Amino acid sequence: KLGNETIKAELGRAAWKLLHTTFARFPDQPTADESAALESYIRLFQRLYPCGECAEHFGLLLEQFPPQVSSRSAAAAWGCHVHNEVNKRLRKELFDCSNIGDFYDCGCADGDEEGEN
Ligand code: FAD
Repeated sequence: KLGNETIKAELGRAAWKLLHTTFARFPDQPTADESAALESYIRLFQRLYPCGECAEHFGLLLEQFPPQVSSRSAAAAWGCHVHNEVNKRLRKELFDCSNIGDFYDCGCADGDEEGEN
């Protein structure tokens, strides 16, 4: 368990950003293999998350709300929902999940290989 609340919060912000951005870039119509990869990624993320207390609670959330990996929009909505579940537990403001589509733009547009990433 990370003792320092500031470090834990920083880790959390970075982790959420990575997760939501990953969901925002997941294919609209993933192959079975891509969906399986995303599900493994989420489960391993939980298992290896460096804040033990957080990982434990997140594990319970995964049992209650199994990862949705059938499409980009399903994954993004699921990510927003579980983040809000964590927000509730920590008594934070809830995020309006209808805005999730625009919020996590990494600037790495498809097919833009030479351009910005
Ligand atoms: P964060 O919750 O980190 O959010 C960052 C930004 O994401 C927000 O400013 C907002 O712009 C956006 N955002 C907010 N809600 C949503 C949403 N629902 N969907 C999409 N975007 C959103 N901390 C603990 O103290 N105890 C825990 O048990 C704990 N468990 C955690 C479990 C996981 C899996 C993760 C990734 C983090 C956990 N954290 C935990 C950290 C905690 O969730 C926050 O990251 C941390 O407290 C910093 O909060 P913040 O207010 O800066 O915003």
